[in-house]
Amino acid sequence: MRYHIWTEGCQMNEADSLKLAAGLAKLGWEEATKAEDADLAVVNTCVVRQKAEDRAAGYLGHLRRLKETRGTQIAVMGCMVGPRTDDLRSRFPYVDVWARPQSFDVVLRYLMPESDLGGEFWPETFAAPAGPTAFVPVIHGCNKFCTYCIVPYRRGRERSRAVDEIAREVAAACANGVREVTLLGQTVEAYGKDLSPNGNGQRPDLGDLFRAVHETPGLERIRFLTSYPRDMTERIIRSVAELPKVCEHFNIPLQAGDNEMLARMRRGYTIEEYREWVYRIRDIVPETSMSTDVIVGFCGETEAQFLNTLGVLEELRFDKVHVATYSPRPGTIAWRHMEDDVPREEKMRRLHAVEEMQERIGTELNSRLLGATQEVLVEGAKEDDAGETVYTGRNRANKLVHFRVEIGNGDGNGTRESPAIGELVQVEIAKTTAWSLQGRLAAAVPA
Ligand code: SF4
Repeated sequence: MRYHIWTEGCQMNEADSLKLAAGLAKLGWEEATKAEDADLAVVNTCVVRQKAEDRAAGYLGHLRRLKETRGTQIAVMGCMVGPRTDDLRSRFPYVDVWARPQSFDVVLRYLMPESDLGGEFWPETFAAPAGPTAFVPVIHGCNKFCTYCIVPYRRGRERSRAVDEIAREVAAACANGVREVTLLGQTVEAYGKDLSPNGNGQRPDLGDLFRAVHETPGLERIRFLTSYPRDMTERIIRSVAELPKVCEHFNIPLQAGDNEMLARMRRGYTIEEYREWVYRIRDIVPETSMSTDVIVGFCGETEAQFLNTLGVLEELRFDKVHVATYSPRPGTIAWRHMEDDVPREEKMRRLHAVEEMQERIGTELNSRLLGATQEVLVEGAKEDDAGETVYTGRNRANKLVHFRVEIGNGDGNGTRESPAIGELVQVEIAKTTAWSLQGRLAAAVPA
């Protein structure tokens, strides 16, 4: 029997899909590269943006034809599947099984009702890594209820996984070639708040989790995503500074640089508090890079309020800004109680203004790395038009680096071999843009 999984959305969904694939493999199923060749088609959905939901609905229409012609079974999982599926069942009556986020075992139980999927099947079935990096969800759900966001309704309340369960998953990934793990959560610093206190009467936090996986054989780097300003603690920041494998990079969504907009979004902090956290992080981890998320054109956003956001971005100078225009999501507080009153053209103008500013800032920040040597984890390689191999990876600051091997330019004797995927190498940066760094191999990192 063969399966095909179509995945939309964030790294959490990617991780869920990989786990479902691992479970299916354990049950003897094989992967099909397209749904047309599969006995089971799984649609792992995202609803953060309307377009993503529309794409899933369109794909389900395609699968309906496959079901009619070749009897393909269809499973839908992920954020489209809320606590109540009545509406979905009437829209898509041909779907065989619905599974909420992180509930991929529902799909397995549907397929193999007689199989023993209890006990150690989960969480001991870990996804086979697709390369030297892996996403590891450590906390599911979100308690924050920002007014524009559908996630808490679909992914439920914050639920942390046990430290030892995560440590086993990281160890299994590293035993299969993973060198870098990204610990994932919608609000990753909330990790542990819902766990039982340990012997010291303290609940484990993200810093404790870093320590629990830090010495995993084979592991070289630890990253974490996504930060929520109010969950950040000085203890966690100091853990980033102290633990050599934890990469110096924070992604802390700002969303808006204006207090009235932040209150309307119900983000739970003021711009003064946000700014203070950024400066505190930079004080404790001076070499850190930072990225952020911004929404433009949220309900009622005036030009002056938008300019406040631009002002904060100019002041804080992030390495990267993920900017999106606001689009209402049915079911959210904003959808129920606020008017989506910024015209689309105006939203796009504001989006482009952020992008232009960030291109300038990113160019300036990255240009400081010209001539520097950066540690890069090799993640991929491909040939350019001239047939020369170009390697791709990321530095510790999570910046994309493209590099080539130049014989005689590395270890001094002209014999430097091509790096392997998953190897940590040193790269001399010869060119920078706002989006990436380019360079040449300097030398392998001594073991
Ligand atoms: S913190 Fe806010 S934006 Fe982030 S997942 Fe939770 S509700 Fe959504």
